[in-house]
Amino acid sequence: MKEFESDTLSNMQPAADQAFRTDFYFNRPLPETLYALEELSWNFLWSWNAEGTALFRELDPSLWERCEQNPRLLLKQISELRLWQKSLEKPYVARLQRFKIIYNKYIGQQQQSFANITAKNPAAYFCAEFGVHNSLPIYSGGLGILAGDHLKSASDLNVPLVAIGLFYRYGYFRQKIGHDGLQEEKYIDSFDSELAVQPVMGENGERILVTVHIRGREVFAQAWLAKIGRISLYLLDTNVQQNPEVDRLITGHLYGGSTETRIVQEKVLGIGGVRLLRQLGVTPSVFHLNEGHSAFLTLELAREFLESSHDSSFTEAAVAVREQCVFTTHTPVAAGNDVFSTRELRGCFDANFISALKLSEEELFAMGRKYPDDRNEEFGMTPLAIRMCRSANGVSVKHGEVSRNLWLDMFPEAKSPSYVPITHVTNGVHAPTWIAPVFQELYRENIGEDWAQVLRDQTAWASEIEKLSNDDIWKTHLALKHLLIAFIRQRTFAKETGRSDTINEHTNTRKLFSTDILTVGFARRVATYKRWNLLLSDLERLLKMVDDAERPVQFVFAGKSHPQDRGAKRILQDLMSINHNSNWQNRAVFIEDYDQEVAKYLVQGVDVWMNVPRRPLEASGTSGQKAAMNGVLNFSILDGWWIEGYNGENGFAIGDLNEDKDDAVSDARDANSLYSILENEIIPMFYNKEESGLPGEWIRRMKNALATLTPQFSSDRMVKDYIEKIYAKH
Ligand SMILES: *Cc1c(COP(=O)(O)O)cnc(C)c1O
Repeated sequence: MKEFESDTLSNMQPAADQAFRTDFYFNRPLPETLYALEELSWNFLWSWNAEGTALFRELDPSLWERCEQNPRLLLKQISELRLWQKSLEKPYVARLQRFKIIYNKYIGQQQQSFANITAKNPAAYFCAEFGVHNSLPIYSGGLGILAGDHLKSASDLNVPLVAIGLFYRYGYFRQKIGHDGLQEEKYIDSFDSELAVQPVMGENGERILVTVHIRGREVFAQAWLAKIGRISLYLLDTNVQQNPEVDRLITGHLYGGSTETRIVQEKVLGIGGVRLLRQLGVTPSVFHLNEGHSAFLTLELAREFLESSHDSSFTEAAVAVREQCVFTTHTPVAAGNDVFSTRELRGCFDANFISALKLSEEELFAMGRKYPDDRNEEFGMTPLAIRMCRSANGVSVKHGEVSRNLWLDMFPEAKSPSYVPITHVTNGVHAPTWIAPVFQELYRENIGEDWAQVLRDQTAWASEIEKLSNDDIWKTHLALKHLLIAFIRQRTFAKETGRSDTINEHTNTRKLFSTDILTVGFARRVATYKRWNLLLSDLERLLKMVDDAERPVQFVFAGKSHPQDRGAKRILQDLMSINHNSNWQNRAVFIEDYDQEVAKYLVQGVDVWMNVPRRPLEASGTSGQKAAMNGVLNFSILDGWWIEGYNGENGFAIGDLNEDKDDAVSDARDANSLYSILENEIIPMFYNKEESGLPGEWIRRMKNALATLTPQFSSDRMVKDYIEKIYAKH
């Protein structure tokens, strides 16, 4: 692997010999008893199956961590001695064979039909990022993970769906915190030959290539296929020989580079994506635009329509396109939506494409404006998507409402926001991915092998959870807490010695954290609206809780800040520099490089998951849903999904539903509420042990969270909602 500094984009041209390696399969001969590992490594199904994951990890546990849980890399690097040792271990080989049978059965099932969604006419799901697993590093955060969970649930429910995204050779940046507390960014070059992606070949045995006209020339993109259970995820990649160097980098970095790079990336995703589906012979019944990045696909569909129906107008084409497209928005503020200046757009769209749409340039630009006649307004992907899709939705009840207000002016005929045709489907998370293996084991023993299906039925699930013993739940939770603390100690152990301890690097980790202490997790992007500073706003009051002799609190933090966001980097620096005569250094840690792997340890192992966004800016939030599924109690502002999830008994609410126009006022009020709920409710309840030695009231809340929140916020429920409310035509 080759590492780059983030700001030296010019250094990032892959050397030609690396870029065009042809050894995409290293056919390493495996011992016969281990043959199955080769096939299993090509499908991400192993990643949401505890046994599948264990089979790879146990091959060589320390190499597994060094390979960052990547089975393709593991099989490439593992020593021959180790391979042959495992191949002669009968119990291991028997487990592998059993898992292969389960795998074959899963993959071999016939696809089902869901009204208009059929194997012949599947749903096509477009997204700029997919967070399937860390070993496919093409995601940055919430949006990508949501898309990954969507694909996994579609696979589990056997929904005919294909997905389209981009293959980012350098992915998203990796975070390191320097000695001065400043975030440093690094990009890591990932080689397709080391990932579970295969080149997509056409009938002639050659790689399939699509072209998109960009900056005055045809740009070529090849496609990679990643298998997500039964779902095919196609990833477009402009790093091909036919392109000049600059075009090869179009799909280089996720959310990197200039706005011009964003436009051309989005052209490859939207326009190239439709062209790829055509080459593959796929005729979707519905195109799902997950966020506006892919909205140019609607223009390509209109162009196709007009090409085959010469006499039609753009208006007629738009009617036909709208019938096929649905849009999900994820941002609750206008500034959060992708916008481009007309000057930049002009440079990226050629006159031929626009005239094929039978539009003038000005008419095209108007499609992306909230107010079509306002020539000063920039071109937004969200207005384009709203105009060109038959359905638009936000990602929680509240976010639906916020979006109706935000886009009200686009619907002059709507008498009030409630008439705006924007609905909602609340986000969910994929239970088998996010529920810890030990909890899955508990469910398997008590509910049965089909626990993940039982989970789809709210009532049946609740009655099963009710039957679990307090002792079992608490023991399972404590095991996860031990695991988290071991992970924290390993991750924060100083790589260099001879310097004072900070909360992200320690020379002696044995003093760090304790399983007996109430543990609060706070991990999210460092953005202003997430209000990282709320907890630190009264340091004295906070440290008093941390230092309490009888009932202390410990905190684990993680999160990346945008490379260009100085304010956010400052927040992190402030957090690192708290150096007080207190236990803070041993009871607060910052885990670098927040990603899916870190997220799993955190959401499964803390006692409390905290979230303090400025209302109503958390469109949904999903990390709290992951925590709830592991019996972790949410302690959150009533915003996004938590407004729907909180029932008074399954976690804690900070503040109330009132909104104040003055940010300073609401920040102060919410900070006070945060501290006093910690002091007066959470801490006493956690430390209040019954005769059995267990915190009875706490476990009662854990059970309530497991029972009520797991089915409601699973991505199985979400995908079903999409099929019934959005994909189906009414
Ligand atoms: C779940 C997840 C997110 C999204 O969580 P939010 O609650 O929306 O902040 C972001 N990053 C990672 C790595 C995650 O696992």
